[in-house]
Amino acid sequence: TRYVFRFGGGVSDGGRGDRNLLGGKGANLAEMASIGLPVPPGFTISTEMCARYYEEGERFPDSLRDEVRDGLAHIEAVTGKRFGDPADPLLVSVRSGARVSMPGMMDTVLNLGLNDQTVEGLAATSGDERFAWDSYRRFVQMYADVVLGLDHDRFEEALEEAKEDRGYFLDTDMGADDWRQVVAAYKEIVEADWGKPFPQDVHDQLWGAVGAVFGSWQSERAKVYRRLNDIPGSWGTAVNVQAMVFGNMGDTSATGVAFTRDPSTGEHAYYGEWLVNAQGEDVVAGIRTPQYLTRAAREKAAAKPLSMEEAMPETYGELARVFDLLEQHYRDMQDIEFTVERGHLWMLQTRSGKRTASAALKIAVDMAEEGLISREEAVARVDAAALDQLLHPTLDPDAPRDVLTKGLPASPGAASGAVVFTADEAEKRAERDEAVILVRIETSPEDIHGMHAAKGILTARGGMTSHAAVVARGMGRPCVSGAGALAIDAKSKILRVRDRTLREGDIITIDGASGEVMAGAVATVQPELAGDFGTLMGWADEVRRLKVRTNAETPADCRTARRFGAEGIGLCRTEHMFFEAERITAVRSMILADTPQGRKAALARLLPEQRRDFAEIFEVMAGLPVTIRLLDPPLHEFLPTKDSDFAEVAAAMDVSVDKLKQRAGELHEFNPMLGHRGVRLGITYPEIYAMQARAIFEAAVDVAQRTGEAPIPEVMIPLVATRRELELMRAQVDKAAAAVFAETGRTLDYLVGTMIELPRAALMAGDIAGAADFFSFGTNDLTQTAIGISRDDAARFLQTYVEQGIFARDPFVSLDVEGVGQLIEIAAERGRGTKPGLKLGICGEHGGDPTSIAFCEQVGLDYVSASPYRVPIARLAAAQAAL
Ligand code: ADP
Ligand code: MG
Ligand code: MG
Repeated sequence: TRYVFRFGGGVSDGGRGDRNLLGGKGANLAEMASIGLPVPPGFTISTEMCARYYEEGERFPDSLRDEVRDGLAHIEAVTGKRFGDPADPLLVSVRSGARVSMPGMMDTVLNLGLNDQTVEGLAATSGDERFAWDSYRRFVQMYADVVLGLDHDRFEEALEEAKEDRGYFLDTDMGADDWRQVVAAYKEIVEADWGKPFPQDVHDQLWGAVGAVFGSWQSERAKVYRRLNDIPGSWGTAVNVQAMVFGNMGDTSATGVAFTRDPSTGEHAYYGEWLVNAQGEDVVAGIRTPQYLTRAAREKAAAKPLSMEEAMPETYGELARVFDLLEQHYRDMQDIEFTVERGHLWMLQTRSGKRTASAALKIAVDMAEEGLISREEAVARVDAAALDQLLHPTLDPDAPRDVLTKGLPASPGAASGAVVFTADEAEKRAERDEAVILVRIETSPEDIHGMHAAKGILTARGGMTSHAAVVARGMGRPCVSGAGALAIDAKSKILRVRDRTLREGDIITIDGASGEVMAGAVATVQPELAGDFGTLMGWADEVRRLKVRTNAETPADCRTARRFGAEGIGLCRTEHMFFEAERITAVRSMILADTPQGRKAALARLLPEQRRDFAEIFEVMAGLPVTIRLLDPPLHEFLPTKDSDFAEVAAAMDVSVDKLKQRAGELHEFNPMLGHRGVRLGITYPEIYAMQARAIFEAAVDVAQRTGEAPIPEVMIPLVATRRELELMRAQVDKAAAAVFAETGRTLDYLVGTMIELPRAALMAGDIAGAADFFSFGTNDLTQTAIGISRDDAARFLQTYVEQGIFARDPFVSLDVEGVGQLIEIAAERGRGTKPGLKLGICGEHGGDPTSIAFCEQVGLDYVSASPYRVPIARLAAAQAAL
């Protein structure tokens, strides 16, 4: 097997299609080189070597040494320099690169190949001694930090000391001799902390760095990131070794990062940051504040330092042409890294740019309208799950705001929460369901778990392309970065903004769209669902086959769902209606009644209430199907648990506390999930389902008469395991319908069906279908009963199961397609075998999960049902599944 692939200087051993083998960075460097863009020559060690490295006990096979030597020879041939040559040394960067860009991997090492001899050669050939020694000290520090794992504070301190001794304030005040002395000090630190002198052999340097890249694949940070993003550990990373180009060779040199469209808003305008006389890491690390790339952006921000467009118009023009070419070539918005060395432009990276959900939407719609992509591609490109970000409220423009300061609008959306200063604290509080804002000077990959737990992220330093900004956009968390007026003291947990002081736990609000940071919580408004969102949803609706319904039981939820495009209700749970304060007493009397008469009397009090509930829902869902599930949970859930509650309830119901407790004791179950619930209630207390059915039909007839639009009730019996259960309940429902129709003189269409949520029901679906008009897969219970895992108790071990790869994802979030999925397939097939027109849907949590929706499409269900806010996600995912 070949492990090394070259690029640059007219050679490309790979291209964009080789991302799995070369990683994203390597594949795109090869691609850019192959379309004639200026890419410094280099080579990629493939991801396959990463796997082999671990197989062989973290060692490299000998053959790799030969291949790397050939790779270096390629770079030497193109550059005319030699690696380790004291007279005219080749320097390289060593860069990691997995299939998808991954924080947590080893940071890039620049200027590798410098030692006490080659630094003199670099000084001579560049004619710039200061530049050579500056590069050398950067290299020693980076290598010590990234490859040797030494504490970088020691280096920072040494540098600060050096500046203080000389009375300097800025790095740029340092001269060649100053840097020479800093290098000497750095080397002493390395020797003291590492126990060996800084490696002077350039090949040792290179192999050390290559090993560190592969080693970082199994770092904790990388593992956390992979877990959060469903990236398999088997992918591995590639290593890129590439000739250095220098953005730090004076005022005609520069480095920058850019997007071909605005990654925050999606606006069709170049967007980027650059720094004159700097190396790449300076821009992302937030050490110096980067400048705007375009004149328009600089003017809009009323910033003084010249944009690249103004300072280097010619090179900028060249860069802009490259932007257009790359966007046309990749047919997507690109995220680009470049360096200018003494006026010469070099491309160092391109990839599809991360973007916010609203930018993704706008870019997809714009590109389809520009003719760059088709409408289907536009639909396919927007991550359905990420739509979530657009559907949530933003700050009410008219609400009063107590603005503390303003930073950069790094990731849109608004969030309020308690100030926390560490990722661990964020996680801890989030576990208690507390909303928190993570406040950091800047974030690093170690903070990822806290960023995930937080509702929003606020940093004092760093630009729009800083770690915090990029990660927050990827996660869909609002973020304000670079709020320079914040003085953060994480140790004492104090945040100062001018004359104001905030402590841990104080509530703040951040607006990632404007960059504002406010004290207290600020009111929010509903999102705008027209515009690009409406356009894309329209295109999605044209291609999707699956209908999308919602799980809702209040008129407000129903209205929200309709606004989001729900085409009916797939699950209206009725027990929620029983919990309402004024009704719970009637429910409790019903439960405590000793006789059917007693039960009926209590139910009679509930009937008008239920009727009103259903009538309200039918009105909102006019003309659409509404699936109502009859009572499902075990009765004891309605009884009090605390002593004080018992006394109160007993008094309200005029029974003794003892009797109440006795009855509660009788209802106690060892395993309520598998106990007296669902259809089993209907079988033992038929009056309950009879009352509910009557309420449904009275409400339906009433709404039909009042509005002229007949609702389509679909009465659903839960937890059925046998046909006989369903037949008995169906008879109850039909009887109630007939009675109501006779009393009112009006009939309407309705269906009676069942949930399929027990393995037996799935297997016996052919039989059960004989008594059913529809099946709705209750995948929450079906997952519980098929795997035998109680959802409420799963939290303790499920994460470990996912980490160990036993389940790829939490089966309660994303359907276990290969296991539970089989039951669905069997039931669908057998059910339709008996009754070809049988209507099939899914009403578990999975109905809003894109991967599960793809499965529903594949097995030919008629609809999915999702919670109101997930309805648009389901519409888009259903369209993507149909493509
Ligand atoms: P990341 O994946 O973190 O962006 P990169 O490997 O892209 O890491 O490197 C970070 C930065 O280092 C690049 O944006 C670029 O500015 C700089 N860099 C990397 N390789 C070179 C090189 N060969 N010459 C000059 N600068 C480089
Ligand atoms: Mg990069
Ligand atoms: Mg259920």
